[in-house]
Amino acid sequence: MTYDLATLTRRARPGMRRKSIVIRDIAPPATMATDLYRACYLPVVQTWSAALPAIENAYARSLSELTTDAPADVKAEIDGAAEQVNRLLLLLTPQVRDWALRTERWYRGKWRGAVLSATGVDLDTMLGASDMRAPLETHIEWNTALIKDVSAQAQQRIGNAVFDGLRNRTPAREVAKTIREAVDMGRDRSTRIASDQLNKLSSALADERRREAGIETWRWRHSRKAHPRADHKARDGNEYTDATAPEDRPGQQPYCGCRAQAVITFDD
Ligand SMILES: [Zn+2]
Repeated sequence: MTYDLATLTRRARPGMRRKSIVIRDIAPPATMATDLYRACYLPVVQTWSAALPAIENAYARSLSELTTDAPADVKAEIDGAAEQVNRLLLLLTPQVRDWALRTERWYRGKWRGAVLSATGVDLDTMLGASDMRAPLETHIEWNTALIKDVSAQAQQRIGNAVFDGLRNRTPAREVAKTIREAVDMGRDRSTRIASDQLNKLSSALADERRREAGIETWRWRHSRKAHPRADHKARDGNEYTDATAPEDRPGQQPYCGCRAQAVITFDD
């Protein structure tokens, strides 16, 4: 449902002389990224982690026996873990959806509160979840693809380590170390992805809620992170519209924590 927040604000505050009102910054709490990581990414990492002892054993056997079908045993162990992850994905997709819906509900409540305190307008009856279906579906698909990619990358790294290992007769404990590192890399990448996806979904929701309110202008709010992109820092406080915005919007670049604050403008 689209509405004109500037007009509603004028009606709520007759006699107001301000030229613009900036809606306060809405920052997603880090716990929501942890929730995504735990519910949707960690089970994949744990599946690979649990498969390692069997892969290590099969590798050690292959190395000592060097029979023709020994490498096939190692491959079967890796394929088995990948198959387990595939079955797990059926359960994880609904978890991703739950998380996205919860994030939408959270943002909607924050937006309603921020608009109410800035303008005196209560949007309660105007804000529905269904209006956000497009960004939600995009981010559900995106996360599902990323979860698959985390698993595929772990599988590839483990496969490379064991098959290279067999060719080079690398000692079993060295290969064990390498494949453990492969799983650790997947775990680290997953925590970064979860935090980034939270920023991306909340940025997308911020854009959609702003457009829905008929607001064109937004203010760049720099992330205050320790190692900011210099050009993002320089944009802090600048105001843009969708027409004048830089190519990369707040929160779009990898791990960018910048956000956009909606600015209601009143023309006389
Ligand atoms: Zn940034």
